[in-house]
Amino acid sequence: MPGPRFPILDNHFHLDPRGRGAEAVKEFLRAGGTHLTLVHKPYRDLPPGSLERTRLAFERTMQLADVARAAGAVVHVALAPHPAELTEMLKAGLALDEAARIYEQGLELAAGHARAGRCIALGEVGRPHYPVEAEVWERANALLQRALELCRDARVAAILHTESATPDVFADLAARARAAGLGLDQAVKHYSPPIVGPENHGLFPSIIASADSAEVAARQGTRFLLETDYVDEPERPGAVLGPKTVPRRTLDLLAKGLLTEEQCWQVHSANPKRVYGIDVAL
Ligand SMILES: [Zn+2]
Repeated sequence: MPGPRFPILDNHFHLDPRGRGAEAVKEFLRAGGTHLTLVHKPYRDLPPGSLERTRLAFERTMQLADVARAAGAVVHVALAPHPAELTEMLKAGLALDEAARIYEQGLELAAGHARAGRCIALGEVGRPHYPVEAEVWERANALLQRALELCRDARVAAILHTESATPDVFADLAARARAAGLGLDQAVKHYSPPIVGPENHGLFPSIIASADSAEVAARQGTRFLLETDYVDEPERPGAVLGPKTVPRRTLDLLAKGLLTEEQCWQVHSANPKRVYGIDVAL
């Protein structure tokens, strides 16, 4: 089979030291993938609770990026303490003020990496996707605002992890990005439903590459990115889409005539250039 004539980016991919690692990346490459946005995730043996642990966890993500590069992918990194870490710290017994302080230090550390060119986005940032007490919700939103401001200052994108994105949620997030002075093209909605038109209020949707979502998205236009949210965790083999999904889905959309080759270039090269300022070429 001849390889694809355009680059293919999976915009939300995780690696775990206990997972398939380079094997998963090779599977992505064999299916026609070329570029990965490798997003930081919490590691089980480094539970949140101090800036030092966040520092070590970020180092690990950057090492895993090198593993993926050695396997043959072009890799860009996103770093941030995951929004769930705030409530993880509360569960572990930290007071809200202390947990929020450690979380904010983690954001600042990630912003430093961004300024040094070691990551192209702060991500995942946002707020819990599950119900929390009003006081925690308010604090999570304040930290989200801080994250958006740090993105503006560091001139990088924000990869947003939130509750399910309805048009109302998109409107709320767009207002927060605007208040922070962050361009809406730099406010990427991770795990987005296929809402490509004005109902996403200008956020940049990174759409989950299931067959249904990708087709619905492609019928609406090309202002979107595609992602799997592959987690690389042995305990959750079927939790999300596998490493092959974005290349397979893209080639499938091309075969079905839902995307032209030029539109594939738009989604996988021009869009990431616009969002992150990166060059995505073959
Ligand atoms: Zn994720």
